[in-house]
Amino acid sequence: MIRETVLIIAFIVLGAGYLFFNHIKRLKNQKKKLQSAIDDLKLLQGVSKEVSSKLEMSQLLPSIMEAFVRAGNVKKGSIMLYDREKDLLEIKTAKGLSQRAIDNVKLHLGEGIGGRVAETGESILINDTTKNSVYKDFFSGDMKGRPRETLLCLPLMFKGEILGVVTLDSKISGQQFIRNDERLLSILASQSAISINNARTYELAITDGLTKLYIRRYFFNRLNEEIEKSSRYRHPFSLLFLDIDHFKEFNDTYGHQMGDKALIHLSKIMIDKTRTVDICARYGGEEFIIILPETQKDSGLILAERLRKSIEVSSFVGLGHEYKIRVSIGLAEYRQDMTSKELIKEADKNLYKAKETGRNKVIS
Ligand code: GH3
Ligand code: MG
Ligand code: MG
Repeated sequence: MIRETVLIIAFIVLGAGYLFFNHIKRLKNQKKKLQSAIDDLKLLQGVSKEVSSKLEMSQLLPSIMEAFVRAGNVKKGSIMLYDREKDLLEIKTAKGLSQRAIDNVKLHLGEGIGGRVAETGESILINDTTKNSVYKDFFSGDMKGRPRETLLCLPLMFKGEILGVVTLDSKISGQQFIRNDERLLSILASQSAISINNARTYELAITDGLTKLYIRRYFFNRLNEEIEKSSRYRHPFSLLFLDIDHFKEFNDTYGHQMGDKALIHLSKIMIDKTRTVDICARYGGEEFIIILPETQKDSGLILAERLRKSIEVSSFVGLGHEYKIRVSIGLAEYRQDMTSKELIKEADKNLYKAKETGRNKVIS
């Protein structure tokens, strides 16, 4: 009798113990899941804050790329933006890709993985690229030497409009992407799309419709920033003032439309011949201004002369004819305690001298 009672008690204790440990295990699992969800949310909150604080596309896109690389725990990735006019997706920022790939990969809607994601607005998750037919087709079926990769491509959509795609591949851990990655990164993609749309609106507001250069108001903001920086750190910087020679005559002879083409032609050369840190702006009708950060008069003169020469030797075509323009340039280097007005006045004075002494020249 006693033996049976002991056995029953032991059985009850064991059963209760089993249930208890099972419960603890379940709780631990739930805690782990909860912790992982909290970690994801924290990560999202952190990166969203960082991403939404940038307004300029050139700063925003690398920051979004970093956020995706961190959240996706990947080695490689790229952000392509869709250009509606060209009907092309182009890589605007990337991590772990060769410069050749960045320059050359351009996709139409429906083309390759990115093109499909952009066309359908649906993300694509591939866990073995060597077995994926779309991927293979894109590389013309030649997968020799291409390692097996895990790849996730997400659309960047804003109000139903496709802005671009984010592609992530090769997880650092060597693991594959799972649906949870896709869910988390899709939220990040939606956040990023809002920021990209804001940056695009801002970009439109600060660029001139015809030449795509910065507008005068933006130039003044940047000039004041540069003066502040220069006063604090004693860094040099210079300013170029450009004006097309005899442009009234050009317009009168060839028409206003051809004049507009000339302005576009000139703007392209300006962008082409300057560095990305230089700020090219349309100051007025046919007057342009360039801020050259970290540049003293001597190097400014070299750049200005190269620019003037490039404009002189180049031409553009319109209605079957070839046209040429020339410019005069005034240069001024910033000196401590100068105001923005004084600096512009000095560059303008030098431009006037260039005009007075024969045009098609640079005066400093
Ligand atoms: P200079 O060599 O002394 O600079 O002579 P200029 O004829 O270029 O100078 P002026 O300032 O007398 O004329 C500027 C002309 O630029 C007047 C106008 O016809 C033209 N212009 C200004 N804005 C635009 C524009 O947006 N489009 C076109 N097509 N022409 C413009
Ligand atoms: Mg003028
Ligand atoms: Mg002129």
